[in-house]
Amino acid sequence: MRASSHTIARSTGALLGDRLPASGWRTRFAPAPTGYLHLGHLVNAIHVWGIARAFGGSVLLRVEDHDRTRCKPEYENALLEDLEWLGFAPDEGSVAEFRTGVTRHRQSDNGDAYERALAGLERAGRVYPCTCSRRDVLRVVGDVPAGEEPCYPGTCRLAQRDPDATRARRVQLDAESVRFDDLLLGAQEQRPAAQCGDVLVRDRFGHWTYQFGVVVDDFDQQVDVVIRGEDLLNSTGRQVLLGRLLGRDKPPQYLHHPLLRTAEGRKLSKADADTSLRELRLGGATAAALIGEAAAQCGLIAQARPIDAAHVATLFAS
Ligand code: GLU
Repeated sequence: MRASSHTIARSTGALLGDRLPASGWRTRFAPAPTGYLHLGHLVNAIHVWGIARAFGGSVLLRVEDHDRTRCKPEYENALLEDLEWLGFAPDEGSVAEFRTGVTRHRQSDNGDAYERALAGLERAGRVYPCTCSRRDVLRVVGDVPAGEEPCYPGTCRLAQRDPDATRARRVQLDAESVRFDDLLLGAQEQRPAAQCGDVLVRDRFGHWTYQFGVVVDDFDQQVDVVIRGEDLLNSTGRQVLLGRLLGRDKPPQYLHHPLLRTAEGRKLSKADADTSLRELRLGGATAAALIGEAAAQCGLIAQARPIDAAHVATLFAS
């Protein structure tokens, strides 16, 4: 495996320190329990905890189990266990609090918040029922390369479907460009209306989508800084726009970090069982060895060496 081309230099630390709030800010670690955590999640955890610890932030744990067809309690338990084993302790919604339900940020518990957010957008005239399947969309816009998303052409906005025809809802986006300054990648400009079109917020089965859940949660849970892999960079513009429609005028700051890739250049996924943290643990790896290995593979250090979770801040502080 190798990191993608632009790795984070050690000097990033000084730059980050200048651009993050001085203290008292909040970020989150937000895995989806659709499989076991793998080295890619570990790279994300290193960035989330390392940057928060180095620059006065706190970490909230959110389990993103919006996809009711793919999430399993077994994976949720496993990710809590893996975090404890690694030594990454959230400051809010700690693993213990999560288990007992005292403070638990879990998307399947947040249905009321999503309903309220949707109702607000409906009152603002932004929402319409959508009966289009992916195949319907592709029929209109033509095939898109594997892994790319088609831009929704607005079929159902124009057709004005009966709300009882489906539970699926889309939110209409204005044709504006969104600019944001990624803490690592620099100035970005995206045009969500041209890139993805109106955003699906609830599907025909009544499931909330990732794009909607994450925006509502980042707003409600007062997340100031979003630290995640660069595979989600394309989602950021639409999330800023959705947040604005929900009343969030000042979006979070964003940092998108490089992903680990397989030797063939594919991003790691939960299907790569050989890189699941529990397999590696069962094979005898220590937590510190894995953290050091992940830090090296994503370019934070030149050569792997054991790093304790308590010391990941040193990877970012100058
Ligand atoms: N739940 C997403 C994932 O596991 C992360 C979403 C985000 O950080 O915005 O990939």
